[in-house]
Amino acid sequence: MFKFIKSLWWFISKNWYRYLSIVFVGILFPILNLVPGFIVKILIDAVKNEEITLAFLFYKIILPYLGTMLTIYLVTTTKRVLQNRLKVRLYYALQVRYMENILVQDATFFEKFQSGDLLTRALGDVKSVNFSGGNRLINMFLEFMTVVVTLVAMMLIHPILAILCFLPLSLIFVTNLLLKRKVKRNWQLVREKSSLMGNVILESITNVRTIRAFSKEEENYQKNLKYSKDTYEIEKANLKINVIFQPMFQSIVAVATIIAYGLGAYYCYQNYIDVSELAQFILYLNLFQAPLTNIGNMINNFYQSLISADRINEIYDAKSSVVDKKNEDLQEIKTIEFKNFSFRYFGDTEDVLKNIDLKIEEGQTLGIVGKTGSGKSTLVRQLVRQLPIEEGTLFINGEEIEDYNQNNVRSHIGYVPQEHMLFSRSVMKNVLLGDSSASLEEVNEAVVMADFEKDIAELVDGYDTVVGEYGVTLSGGQKQRLAIARAFLKNADVLVLDDSLSAVDGKTEANIIHSLNQYRKNRTNIIVAHRLSAVMHANLIIVLDQGKIVERGTHEELMELKGWYYEQFLAQAMEEGEEHA
Ligand code: ADP
Repeated sequence: MFKFIKSLWWFISKNWYRYLSIVFVGILFPILNLVPGFIVKILIDAVKNEEITLAFLFYKIILPYLGTMLTIYLVTTTKRVLQNRLKVRLYYALQVRYMENILVQDATFFEKFQSGDLLTRALGDVKSVNFSGGNRLINMFLEFMTVVVTLVAMMLIHPILAILCFLPLSLIFVTNLLLKRKVKRNWQLVREKSSLMGNVILESITNVRTIRAFSKEEENYQKNLKYSKDTYEIEKANLKINVIFQPMFQSIVAVATIIAYGLGAYYCYQNYIDVSELAQFILYLNLFQAPLTNIGNMINNFYQSLISADRINEIYDAKSSVVDKKNEDLQEIKTIEFKNFSFRYFGDTEDVLKNIDLKIEEGQTLGIVGKTGSGKSTLVRQLVRQLPIEEGTLFINGEEIEDYNQNNVRSHIGYVPQEHMLFSRSVMKNVLLGDSSASLEEVNEAVVMADFEKDIAELVDGYDTVVGEYGVTLSGGQKQRLAIARAFLKNADVLVLDDSLSAVDGKTEANIIHSLNQYRKNRTNIIVAHRLSAVMHANLIIVLDQGKIVERGTHEELMELKGWYYEQFLAQAMEEGEEHA
């Protein structure tokens, strides 16, 4: 309980007065609930003493009763309104915090937490925490207060009888405590399985074409089914605990009632207690039943939220390893320098980049080539601050990259990653992501530079054609060119094309490279490519092999070197020759 409150303290501490006002209004309820029992006592006493008159009935019985009921109604409604407001507020705060934390995470985080898992946490776990933080926590406290207030009222009537009746009822608490571990572990398993299921479902939806192409529908279905079954079995086990213990709780209540009836009647007979007091006592005993069983249920559900809170806190507490040390403002990128730069992915045993020394001057075009897996993408991803960096190894304008604000650094780089991200909106809006304030003329220019204008003419609604999941599906090459147009539009100091020309034909590639050489002549360009024709005009070309720079120079220099570049160039030239033949 305290752990849960602690994990929500960031919200509770700011909204303490809301919680307090609900508790304040809510606590009136158990007090008001005692009034009908008191009225019954007055009535029985009056019957005994033959004091019943119409005026007595009206003023002492009916009017107070109606007044109490009306106040109870007002109190319950006010509490409900306040509580719902708090719940909505908390839900919003939880979601915003969740999103804010996700948006600042680095690539390592997204490898640790998969999309389906993050989605399950954002929906299921946030909702569960919201329910407990907004409703259950206060209600549990109020139900507990009902038990206390009622017990005090009963003790005021007859302390021994009250204690004897309460003793078996306290067994409900003890049983709950004993079950705590088991139920908690089960809920943990349910949430973990839900996350796995979320991942599998999301993966199935995203890769539906591949699954169909390889006729893996049945296999995929069975996998989904397995996770659903596992979750079902664990939930069933928890329900079983509930089903077994619910009647047990009721039996305990029955025992308490029998004690009250039997012993109460005996005390009454012995004149230890008045008959009107016994009636009042039994009515109060009935007030116990609901809160005690409710607390039992609430504790069970509360365990779910406790697990969910842990799962959300994992996201809230995740710290990005990409940090801004000094948060300095970067006006423009002139030089980029890697000094004895090495990098290892989290959990790996070997460096994927080894002792890289490389300086890129302003206005230069750098070509990066090498075998698949040699570290090309990893190298350029450092510039957009996707990965943690070792101190004193990467510099912009002579200053450590970590001294600058990372968003600021990114704003000066037009980055086209290998996986082209399209959003389900119009082509225009997708291109405008590069620069939302660009004019139509500037968009046209970027589209021409990316050799994408002929495709726009073919699309049904031109620029307004919706692409992506809810619209037209673009080919791999079209997606690449749209992403390049977006980066061209950004017109940043540095343009990074990470294998972004792999799905376009040789002629289109030549057109794009031509635009690049023409329009970005005095700016810095970094081109990662497989086809060497894409980099042969670069001022500097580096060849990576197993994370090391093994060759460097201009096209002519590398051809003279007669190493990997030379061999690859000849092989590619021959391939192209065969294609044209
Ligand atoms: P390239 O772009 O030259 O094909 P990459 O930079 O993508 O090469 O990969 C370099 C090496 O790092 C490869 O061995 C690859 O398996 C590994 N690698 C790439 N991404 C990750 C990652 N997220 N986690 C662990 N290893 C990775």
